[in-house]
Order: sequence, then structure tokens, then C-alpha cells
Amino acid sequence: MKNILLLHTGGTIAMKEDKESGAVGQVGNHPLNEALSSLSEYGNIMTEDVFNLPSPHITSKEMLILKNRIEKAANNDNIEGVVITHGTDTLEETAYFLDLTIQSTIPVVLTGAMRSSNEVGSDGPYNLLSSIKVAASDDAVGKGVLVVLNDEIHTAKNVTKTHTSNVATFQSPQYGPVGIVTKRGVSFHHAPIHRENFVITNVSKKVMLLKAYAGMDSTLLTTLLDMDIDGVVIEALGQGNLPPAMINGITALLKQNIPVVLVSRCFNGIVQDIYGYEGGGRQLKDLGCIFSNGLSGQKARIKLMIALEQTVDFKELQEAFLN
Ligand code: ASP
Repeated sequence: MKNILLLHTGGTIAMKEDKESGAVGQVGNHPLNEALSSLSEYGNIMTEDVFNLPSPHITSKEMLILKNRIEKAANNDNIEGVVITHGTDTLEETAYFLDLTIQSTIPVVLTGAMRSSNEVGSDGPYNLLSSIKVAASDDAVGKGVLVVLNDEIHTAKNVTKTHTSNVATFQSPQYGPVGIVTKRGVSFHHAPIHRENFVITNVSKKVMLLKAYAGMDSTLLTTLLDMDIDGVVIEALGQGNLPPAMINGITALLKQNIPVVLVSRCFNGIVQDIYGYEGGGRQLKDLGCIFSNGLSGQKARIKLMIALEQTVDFKELQEAFLN
């Protein structure tokens, strides 16, 4: 049996509902501890409570702590697979951070729950069991960080939370899951063809995320000029276009060597320099905006933050966002 490290970080999977007030909140003793005995048939499980945070409280500092813990586990502690329980709100960001930075090929699986531990139909124990099965699977080795909930296996890069409360919330728009979990085991039907890796020891860069809208002007962009930031990601319109009134702000940011990465606010598709009108993708590309290929705004922000630890060179940053 494989040695599996189970790292708890908090979230609904670690919470209980107060039956009187209806509020869902943290509890002292991790409710999943009761489910742990049945997990031992899938691996030698070692458990650590790393944090007990709702995931809106997770920052890049906690993500870096997890990365370092996983690398130590893989390199020094003879661990062959890792499962992280995490709040679902920012789970995809932690997953992608780890996917880009961990220097190891052991399976790393993130999971969570949409219903807390004492609610009817609580999905935490089941998702945990599925995740342990995936982390113990030989087929999961070298596939990067995976997200497992509701019987589906997703890549960290493509998965996103699509519904506020449905247990089938985690989906990979445009690509679908890479595998499924069944009662008999784990079955992959796709494998990521391209894996990226950044060697970082620190996360010090401040990257902002803005969403474009009809009639948006440069007010927010020029405010950023005085805020000592290292980069901006903009969820642009359609294939990568912005209202013309934003051009002054974009130009000013680029002049101060602050990289501006464009993604689309569309759910599917990638941004490209197609349109030649004012504010269109061609003008934005000529000005020096970096076009990202299909990442969501929150994932592009994580990637820019990490890439900036390695380089501030525009060409190298653009290169990083081609993948
Ligand atoms: N708000 C919760 C969190 O992310 C949601 C969850 O865990 O499902 O911590």
C-alpha cells in the first residue's frame, strides 16, 4: 500500500452547520477524522492539519507553505501521493499554484465539499475517499495537480467552480474531466499534453485582476499607477478587446513596465489579436499587452504572479502565456 499524506486546510469540508441558526462554520475536531478508518484500505494515511481556514482566507502565503510541505513529503518523507482538503471558493487557485510550482511527479489531489459535515447529503467523506483512490493510483503519477469531486478528475489548469451550491460545481469548460472515479477504481481517459513548471522560493509580487465592461474607462487603470503593483490581468471582452477609453490607462501602465495580461471574460475560447478597431486586440497587442491562451482571470493572475518571480522580461512573459 502507498504512503498517502492527507493535508487539511479548512473549508466547508471541515465545517458543521449550526442547526439553530443555520450558519456553517469551523469546528475544533476535524469532522473527517471519523471517516478516516475506512480510508486505510486504500493507503497508509498520514494526516496533518496545516490550517483551518475558509478558502477566502487563503493567500499565496498559504499556497507556498503547501508547496514546500508537499516537496518535503515527496523528497524526504517517502510519501507517494498527497490529498489536500480545501474550501471550494479558491480551491482552483491553490490547485493551479501548486501545479505550476511543485517539483515532484507524485500525485497531488485537491478536494472539498459543497455541504458541511452534518448536513443531509454531505459530500465531504465521499470526495475524500475518491481523492485518496486517485492519489494512490499509478495512473495519476506525472499528471500534475488534480482536482477530484463528485466522481470526476479534473486538471488544475482547466477546472473551475461553476455553481454556487450544486455538488457538481467543478467543471472544466471546453475540455471536460480527464478521468472518473468509480466504485471499482480510477480511470483516466485524457492526459495533459503540456506541463509547465516554475522554480520559485518566494511569492512577493502584487498582481491585480480587473474585469472589463461596456463603457469602462481608464479610472481604475490610472489608480493602479500609484499602487506599487507588479502586474495586471484584465478579463477583456470577447476575443480580447477593450473599450477605447481604456487605452490611455493601458498605455500608461505599460510605459511604467507593468505587464498587462489579457484573458477573456467569455467562459470558453482564447484571446487573439483579431480586431483592428480602436481598443481591438490588434492595437492592444501592438501596445504590448500579453495575450493568454485560455486561462481564466484568476488562473492568469496566479500564473503572472509566479512567472514574475522568474522574469520581468516581456518576451519571456509572453512566451509563458503561450502555453
Ligand atoms: N466558502 C467555503 C470555502 O471556500 C466554501 C467551501 O468550502 O465549499 O471555504
